[in-house]
Amino acid sequence: MISKEVVVKTKEVDELIIGAGLTGLIYGITLLEKKKNVALVEGHIYPGGYATSFVRNKRKYRFDCSQHKITGLSENGNLRDVFKRIDLWDKLDFKYFDELFSIHVQGEYYHIPGNITDIEKYLNEKFPNEKEGLDKFFHDINTIGYQNYMFARMLLGEYQLNRDLLPETRQLQKLTAKQYFQSYFNDDRLIEVLSATAMYLGTHANEANAVYFLHYLYTAFGTRSGYVLGTAQSLSNFLLKEFKDRGGYVSLKDTVHGIDLDEQGDIAQVNSKKHSFITKTVTATCSPNNVMNMLPSFKGKEVFENKLQDLEFGWGHFCVYIITDVDPEELGFTQEEYIFVSDEGDLLTPEEKESDVRYDRLSLSVTNYHKMDPECGKTVQLIVLDHKSDWFELEEEDYLLRKEQIQEQIIKRAYKYFPKLEGHIVYKESSTPRTNKKYTNSPGGSAFGYKISPNDNMRFLSKSPVKGLKFAGTWTSGAGYEAAMCQGFMHAKLSLKNMN
Ligand SMILES: Cc1cc2nc3c(=O)[nH]c(=O)nc-3n(C[C@H](O)[C@H](O)[C@H](O)COP(=O)(O)OP(=O)(O)OC[C@H]3O[C@@H](n4cnc5c(N)ncnc54)[C@H](O)[C@@H]3O)c2cc1C
Repeated sequence: MISKEVVVKTKEVDELIIGAGLTGLIYGITLLEKKKNVALVEGHIYPGGYATSFVRNKRKYRFDCSQHKITGLSENGNLRDVFKRIDLWDKLDFKYFDELFSIHVQGEYYHIPGNITDIEKYLNEKFPNEKEGLDKFFHDINTIGYQNYMFARMLLGEYQLNRDLLPETRQLQKLTAKQYFQSYFNDDRLIEVLSATAMYLGTHANEANAVYFLHYLYTAFGTRSGYVLGTAQSLSNFLLKEFKDRGGYVSLKDTVHGIDLDEQGDIAQVNSKKHSFITKTVTATCSPNNVMNMLPSFKGKEVFENKLQDLEFGWGHFCVYIITDVDPEELGFTQEEYIFVSDEGDLLTPEEKESDVRYDRLSLSVTNYHKMDPECGKTVQLIVLDHKSDWFELEEEDYLLRKEQIQEQIIKRAYKYFPKLEGHIVYKESSTPRTNKKYTNSPGGSAFGYKISPNDNMRFLSKSPVKGLKFAGTWTSGAGYEAAMCQGFMHAKLSLKNMN
């Protein structure tokens, strides 16, 4: 067989962006307001990173790779503000959720409404003995959670820091979300209901930093959640088109593998599969660990790499993609989103965390995508957060066998809650942390960047050790569509300000 040789093209650009995920796309669009010669390089054939989808059966079925909720869409939402400021809000059409999720804890469903006022009322009705704790909790969401939500706006000079909140914020930084809930509430069910929502942050309440969690709860409860039709891919494709229409240069299926430095230690050239980019400025939205591997040795590299070693890769996930023969609603999937908390709880010993017990004990997310968007077909997805484990070591045949075995274990778990599903699955397949790595290049198959645990210090990532290089996105500030796009916007605005 004759292999096709790739001709490497030399191109001079003012700035190069690595990764056309949501961060890279919004960063690029915003930068083009003033910078003209900007290139975006993406390893995958499609734009979007985790905000992508794939089709099956001659495009009859479309599976979303991540979109559940896009937050920040209310009048006070930061994402809405970003879309308005880059002239995209009027071109986008969001659908909204009346209910955020149905959480199943010890035999009972808790239907969490779609806005913070109704959520507070609902939780007070369900847990009348917890009024005092709930009052404090919602106060914290609206103060500490809000302040952390406004962090990017603060860096832009658009939000004045409330210093009075800092002593308490510092105390809460030392706690996990679970410890924080336990300090306010006595009712285990309430603690489990609130803890379950951590799944949407790609974490577990017994590991997540309480302040980070409060920021998430502010955005999830208080800024209106919606979604786009046609899966997240339609949003990513739209953003890529905007980037191109505004004069940006895009190269897909083009992985960056090297960054050359000149004698002063400044960036001289960036090398990808298809290009040699001559540039002095690079914004990397991929993992900083990967960027370090692209760089030659330089003064300070080891120190930076040592700091990176203190950070832990976040969770990946195991997802089962299902097509049913009838409308999933007829099979009991009456809501869009469910989270099922195991009756035995999700606190695992290190041995349990490594064993297959984790697929029964960690929370199970079930999404009826057909209800969100019937055009996607009769599709349902089952997700359990997962970690690297031995997924990367298995030979192809063993990997496929193991994948099928876990897939069946998770489907069996779903039958307990949706018994009518049995006999109605006409197609199924699954993805693992290894799939995450394959499509987004994320080390360890992490789907949510680094873990943001109590006392973690990721602040050093805001200053890269190489002049002209910066990190942006999920790997520097946590996961989420809104977080990614607002970070992209904020970094671009700061960069334009510095240019002036
Ligand atoms: C199952 C799942 C469900 C989720 N659900 C939600 C949700 O409902 N709501 C929400 O807000 N968030 C959700 N998230 C999180 C959200 O999808 C991500 O945080 C966000 O999309 C990340 O965007 P990003 O641009 O920062 O990173 P990525 O999406 O990871 O983009 C980085 C891009 O860089 C590319 N890249 C990497 N290395 C290179 C290289 N060397 N050369 C070229 N390109 C490279 C990758 O291919 C990728 O496209 C979910 C995530 C998962 C996995």
